Amino acid sequence: MKHARIGIIGGTGLGDVLAKEAGCETLDVTTPFGPPSSAPVIANWEGMDVAFVSRHGPGHKLIPSRVPYRANIWALKQLGVSAIIASGATGSLREDIEPGHLVLCDQVIDKTFRRESTFFDEGIAVHVELSEPFCPQLRELLTEAGKRLSTTVHHAGTYVCMEGPQFSSRAESHMHRQWGGDLIGMTCMPEAKLAREAELCYALVALPTDYDCWRPPAPDRAQEELLREIMGNLRQATDNAILLIREALRLMDGPLPPCRCREALKLAIWSDKRLIDARTLERLEPLIGAYMTDNNGGPA
Ligand SMILES: [Zn+2]
Repeated sequence: MKHARIGIIGGTGLGDVLAKEAGCETLDVTTPFGPPSSAPVIANWEGMDVAFVSRHGPGHKLIPSRVPYRANIWALKQLGVSAIIASGATGSLREDIEPGHLVLCDQVIDKTFRRESTFFDEGIAVHVELSEPFCPQLRELLTEAGKRLSTTVHHAGTYVCMEGPQFSSRAESHMHRQWGGDLIGMTCMPEAKLAREAELCYALVALPTDYDCWRPPAPDRAQEELLREIMGNLRQATDNAILLIREALRLMDGPLPPCRCREALKLAIWSDKRLIDARTLERLEPLIGAYMTDNNGGPA
């Protein structure tokens, strides 16, 4: 099977760019959690083998609650990816985070409640550390890449992930601001959690497309006009994200340096490894296989 080093999860704008790369190939991948949102596209971009998954699938038909997050992460892991750069549209909860800017999120508040959010739901208890939910190394690399762009790139931000698909009420929007949220979105969870469980570095480039409803629009603006503006901001932010990822790939010279994300399970398996049944071991082998040779290393 084809291999890639970097995974990219995002919208169609990103996919379209990769699809134009010479030698790009679409792969038919299946996982124990069903098929990914879209067949991964493998391409050599800026000298790097990357695998792209369109989060909402062809034609943007999957709502955030229905995205097969586990299959997407598993598929990228299966393709040999060790780091994921994801992007996603968000609303801004801060005056200084303007539509069209980019934000390299460093924290998240997870409000989602109807999504499969772990690979370890049966036969084994695994508790990964998540105090830094986004890979600090990858964020640093993207920050460095951002310096080469003319657009504003915020180096930190707290992403509030809501279930959706409806947007927030104004009271909720004010509450999210009081919580310390900088952005509101619907997709980075459980994606970031699952990437950590799969021992993949994961960074998110958030694309603010508009201000969330805490900041009322000018009363004379028509709804249609606002929507057109949001779509325009999304296109602009996507173009900026493409430039940012392109620069980041150029900076990745040689193998990625060691990172804690890629040994996230080392101390996270709480079950007595001698008592984990064969079916569970076989099912989760790509994730836990390396830790099953002895009974050391975990709290059990
Ligand atoms: Zn990392």
